Amino acid sequence: MTASRTGSYYLATAIGQRARPQLNGAIAADVCIIGAGYTGLSCALHLAKAGLKVVVLEAEVAGFGASGRNGGQVITGQRVDQVELERRYGEARARALWDLALEARSLVRSLIASHAIACDETPGHISAAVRASHATELEAYVEHLVRRYNYSTARYLSPAEMPAHVATSNYKGGLYDTASFHLHPLNYALGLARAADEAKVEIFENSRVSSVEHGEKIRLATASGAVTAKFAVYACNGYLGKLNPDLARTIMPISNYVAATEPLGEARARALIPSGAAIADTKFVLDYYRLSADHRLIFGGGETYGGADIDDAAPIVRPHILRVFPQLADSRIDYAWGGRLAITMPRLPHVGRLTPNLYFAQGYSGQGVAIATLVGKLIGEAITGQAARFDVYESLKIPPLPGGALLRQPLLTLGLLWYALRDRLG
Ligand SMILES: Cc1cc2nc3c(=O)[nH]c(=O)nc-3n(C[C@H](O)[C@H](O)[C@H](O)COP(=O)(O)OP(=O)(O)OC[C@H]3O[C@@H](n4cnc5c(N)ncnc54)[C@H](O)[C@@H]3O)c2cc1C
Repeated sequence: MTASRTGSYYLATAIGQRARPQLNGAIAADVCIIGAGYTGLSCALHLAKAGLKVVVLEAEVAGFGASGRNGGQVITGQRVDQVELERRYGEARARALWDLALEARSLVRSLIASHAIACDETPGHISAAVRASHATELEAYVEHLVRRYNYSTARYLSPAEMPAHVATSNYKGGLYDTASFHLHPLNYALGLARAADEAKVEIFENSRVSSVEHGEKIRLATASGAVTAKFAVYACNGYLGKLNPDLARTIMPISNYVAATEPLGEARARALIPSGAAIADTKFVLDYYRLSADHRLIFGGGETYGGADIDDAAPIVRPHILRVFPQLADSRIDYAWGGRLAITMPRLPHVGRLTPNLYFAQGYSGQGVAIATLVGKLIGEAITGQAARFDVYESLKIPPLPGGALLRQPLLTLGLLWYALRDRLG
């Protein structure tokens, strides 16, 4: 379980929320998509633009899941860096993943522009090193990106430069990329949903899929209706639950928490992060934060792995905020919420087909704003017969998590707690 989204700053500042109908009765479609997050909405939008009849079934409302609750950081690259991708997959596949990541970033920008999505797009991202060894790695990584990928918008920040970028003495160096950016994640999701409505996608809300029957035609049932479709797509990510045990085997859902302070005023907010860039540190359980358009600090920090229900995420996030910015001790937290992400063992998304006409994508491992948007588009391409780029992700062959149905959660919880402990020990 996770803290509810009712305390969310994003919900309080949502633009263009609209109620959509529940599915009642039986209908037919070319493609039926389960889940209205970035994956499902982008897939639906691209398929509808290609002329297909698309239905989206959402258990709650559009943008209900991680897509409406996340840190809003559009960080260049895959979740795993290029050095590691080259080591794992060789240079050609690493380069293909890099090219797709760059495309993901520009896809978000072009969707925002072409559909006039008001989501506070703001440039800049800094990876902040919590240890000297991490800073050394970031410095080498900047050189690697220049040398191998001709990438010129990232630069290394020395320890002496860091306090001018983030008003804390915590960091030992950083990587500043002016081409990465951040946005209001729920308004981006709602904008995609609106664009899908306009492209004649039928989005049904409060329509949880309870069963999926495979076959030449796929039949998806909800409590009050059913869809028969030539193709279907699982886009449920961390909210998949028990809908498909095969897909559940490769992902571990994690609850992660975010808080928004009271408005700090422009001067005080700018003093914290003068460039307005988003920040993420290099810990395993990372702190990530940015300023909102109304000059609040929006700070993500802390996660839980068990099944506990959290009523109020503020006490979880507040110590993280104060460790970075003790100067905010007198600032109120106005909003706090949680969301569920899904991680895979290799920290790369699990994308593929269960049968020739049944697709899925999940497990973006905390870096899905851009990548999920792109993967939704790539599934659309594959369904319309162009699978080459989809195949780059499908070929990653994401393994099941260890432990089987019963032991998976406790084993992984132990493993993750161990990494979290290492963060604290420094
Ligand atoms: C707290 C937090 C912070 C994050 N920060 C960042 C960040 O800064 N940058 C970044 O790139 N990524 C970040 N992520 C990850 C990113 O949000 C996700 O990777 C991305 O939103 C995944 O989108 P999705 O559409 O696949 O899944 P989701 O947005 O989770 O959508 C899945 C949808 O499926 C629906 N669903 C599930 N089961 C059913 C069913 N049976 N029937 C119908 N509908 C169903 C759910 O209700 C939900 O709406 C963060 C995630 C969290 C939780």
